[in-house]
Amino acid sequence: MSAEDIAKRIAAITAMAAARATVIAVSKQQPAGRISAALAAGQRHFGENRVQEAKERWAGHRTAYPDLVLHMIGPLQTNKVRDAVALFDRIHTLDRPKLADVLVAEMKRQNRFLPCLIQVNTGDEPQKAGISPAGVGDLLAHCRAGDMTVDGLMCIPPVAEDPVPHFTCLAALARTHGLEHLSMGMSNDYEAALECGATFIRVGSGIFGARDDAI
Ligand SMILES: *Cc1c(COP(=O)(O)O)cnc(C)c1O
Repeated sequence: MSAEDIAKRIAAITAMAAARATVIAVSKQQPAGRISAALAAGQRHFGENRVQEAKERWAGHRTAYPDLVLHMIGPLQTNKVRDAVALFDRIHTLDRPKLADVLVAEMKRQNRFLPCLIQVNTGDEPQKAGISPAGVGDLLAHCRAGDMTVDGLMCIPPVAEDPVPHFTCLAALARTHGLEHLSMGMSNDYEAALECGATFIRVGSGIFGARDDAI
């Protein structure tokens, strides 16, 4: 993927998202040259799914790019919360009360209050992270009682299914609970997600090309 291709893809996807949604460039497992190309093209929102990898990639870019916005979009273990709160600006993968408790305690300790989205397992897949749709209300109440800012929902639809019913389900849940943000849509389905009201789309290979699993 050339720097020019990356810039073109960012421009095309951003134009499609228009004023409706923020494009998060998912930079996990991408080589440094492609990330520099995205930064040079003006991209500032990036998503990562592993705390350690994100820290290595991004800690050095903060001073050069003070307007960088880093999104945690992967499963978060409680023993990584300290680093996650220090590095990221928003967390998309809050999915259990215990994690909310650890996050809020750490945010208070660091005096860094990150807005969070609840990850919903809209397909009720046993192997997948996220709370079941029926559990959203209770988790939200728990977070709000603990002084945490939860302002949206996130989902990753089952791979082999039409994503639209999952996006629609997430949008309905957000409406029911008065939540502003919907983090949904990846390279293969962000157009459908935008039509269903996404406010964050998370695009990796569609911007950078295939990931190098060796990185
Ligand atoms: C990797 C990843 C993406 C981006 O996937 P692409 O198919 O490369 O766009 C989006 N969301 C999450 C949660 C991811 O882990």
